[in-house]
Amino acid sequence: MLSKKTPFILYGGDYNPDQWDEKTIDEDMKLFKKAGVNLLVLPVFSWAKLEPEEGRYEFEWLDKILNKIWENHIYVFLATPTTAQPAWLSKKYADVLPVDITGRKRTHGMRVFFCVNSEHYRLRARALAEAMAEHYRDFPGLAGWHVSNEYGTYCYCENCQNKFRGWLKKRYGTIENLNDRWHTSFWGRTVYDFDEIMVPSELNDDYRFSPAVQLDYMRFVTDSTIGCYLNEATVLKAATPDLPVFSNISGYIKKLNQFEMVPHMDCAGWDNYPAPTDEPAFIALKHDIMRGAKDGASYLVTEQSPNQQNWQPYNKLKRPGELRRLAYQGMAHGADSSLYFQMRQSIAGQEKFHGALIAHCGEDTRIFREMCVLGQELKKLGRAFVGGRTKARAAIVFDWDNWWALELSSGPTQDMDYLKQVYKYYKAFHSQNIPVDMVKTTRELSAYDVVVLPLMYMVKPGFDEKIRTLVESGKTVLATYMSGRADENDRCIFGAYPGPLGDVFGLWVEETDALYPQESVEITMDGSNIHYPEGAYRGRFLCDILHTTTARVLGRYGRAYDGAQEIRCFYSGSPAITCNDFGKGRAYYVGTEMDTLFMERLVDAMCREQGIYAPFKTDGALEVTCRENEDGQFWFVINHGSEKGCVYLGKALDCKETADYGHSGTVYRDLLRDRNVAGAYEIEAGDVAVLKVMEGMPV
Ligand SMILES: [Zn+2]
Repeated sequence: MLSKKTPFILYGGDYNPDQWDEKTIDEDMKLFKKAGVNLLVLPVFSWAKLEPEEGRYEFEWLDKILNKIWENHIYVFLATPTTAQPAWLSKKYADVLPVDITGRKRTHGMRVFFCVNSEHYRLRARALAEAMAEHYRDFPGLAGWHVSNEYGTYCYCENCQNKFRGWLKKRYGTIENLNDRWHTSFWGRTVYDFDEIMVPSELNDDYRFSPAVQLDYMRFVTDSTIGCYLNEATVLKAATPDLPVFSNISGYIKKLNQFEMVPHMDCAGWDNYPAPTDEPAFIALKHDIMRGAKDGASYLVTEQSPNQQNWQPYNKLKRPGELRRLAYQGMAHGADSSLYFQMRQSIAGQEKFHGALIAHCGEDTRIFREMCVLGQELKKLGRAFVGGRTKARAAIVFDWDNWWALELSSGPTQDMDYLKQVYKYYKAFHSQNIPVDMVKTTRELSAYDVVVLPLMYMVKPGFDEKIRTLVESGKTVLATYMSGRADENDRCIFGAYPGPLGDVFGLWVEETDALYPQESVEITMDGSNIHYPEGAYRGRFLCDILHTTTARVLGRYGRAYDGAQEIRCFYSGSPAITCNDFGKGRAYYVGTEMDTLFMERLVDAMCREQGIYAPFKTDGALEVTCRENEDGQFWFVINHGSEKGCVYLGKALDCKETADYGHSGTVYRDLLRDRNVAGAYEIEAGDVAVLKVMEGMPV
């Protein structure tokens, strides 16, 4: 678990008491107790109030509020409020403010609006962290440190430019090596000295036209942000070694490599703000990426909105039961918290219409009542599944460098969206409730029996060997179009794609066709272990034209269509889906973006080959996951649908296809309803259940 001090599910969130008078704060305490809040995060935006002038700290107001919070037995994550620097800091030290991608020096304002490499920002942020650590290290209600907030500023100032040059020198050693790695002979971009290197901005358009430069800049900004985080975190950790230190990651996760950042933290903290149109499986994918950031350890959901957000084009209210369902979905995937932004709705400013526990109209609200119910349930669950891990035998390899490089690449299609593509493969597992880990390229893969490599465009040194060994040892691997194309610097691999993985998949790719959005190609299956309705499958997006060497052809391109109109397709009849027996294992290749039904069946076939099955049979839109800790096994059943669903509770451990669903006698304790259950168990539309395995107990 995150900390021995708080061995329970953390419930509460961001509180900004510097906006409120004493009477309101007293009222808030009563309402927090009523809602079952056990943790508050503060003061995220209070640097200006804590340090009104350089070196003069005013802690009295915060002491008073913290004491009041602790008198009510509520813990706190103390936030270093360094996300919003005070005006005096921006005015006094010019290096603090960032330069944007257009080359404009920005003026004071906003939040997360500083240069992460600014010397004066880092000096003053560290001094503030030191002062807070010194002042609050022994505060009994202190449960952890929340460093800054939603890092993610890209700066293009002269200081960043100099730092970037130093970073490149360290990475590449010599200018000759850099020229080689960036392949600067293309378009005559040779540089003779590191001081000729510019940050990729709108001033030179390198952010669009020089993928190798932009890719390294994104890596550099990630490293700079890690440095900025550690500048404070090391001080806090030294003062309170037993307490967790972390930062919260913005819901928009692409811009910083979280698989690089989070290992520097005691846990991942993620702000979950789904769009109203996001499917439950897409939210689940993001949760699982966060779980993967620290190789399967539990994490924190640091922010959600209790109700509507304010920055979507159309801010739908959370429907009755939705906040509860989203909260349990986070916990079902590995979160040990359900924290919210914000506790009291601000009266003005950008987020005045953003949902809160306590709305402008007070406590007599649907949302407050729903939060009270959730609070009572979490209190009842106590420590339950806290710290629990998810056991998965299947994995999807996810990689930020690959994400960036794929989307930076000009061609073959403007519609490249890595996360959306990965989601198609993730959803095929999720819809069948087969647990899957989202893993880094550096993760040891031998524990997984089925491994999917969606669009593994970039093959990093040693990764091909890892995959080769995995398949040879008897595991099943799937790769797709746009795989094995480039190295770490986005230089394409000489020889045919998928490059060093060609022998494993037993094929080579000659060309890749990009389809217009309305175009599709039928895929005719030649016969395989995949059960399919004939002619029902379609390929879209991209189509590899490939040649097999040792692979068997499972499916071929058939007739092509522009909308409903049949069109000529010169590669009709050529292979689209293949399978290669390699060593003791199998390597599948999918040469085009297939529809959901096909992906579900292929994933099902691969999993069956390895003896992996859904844990339970279900009816309805049920999401089923499991977490296990020293106290046992906890099953989450969430009904995302509008109809009643049913889970057939058989014996869950390594459930085989032949398992006698519903009759094998394992008893589960429904922890929310205080009753023992077995067999067919109905879950109402929108409802959730948390079931603890109770071996040998009567129903
Ligand atoms: Zn800068």
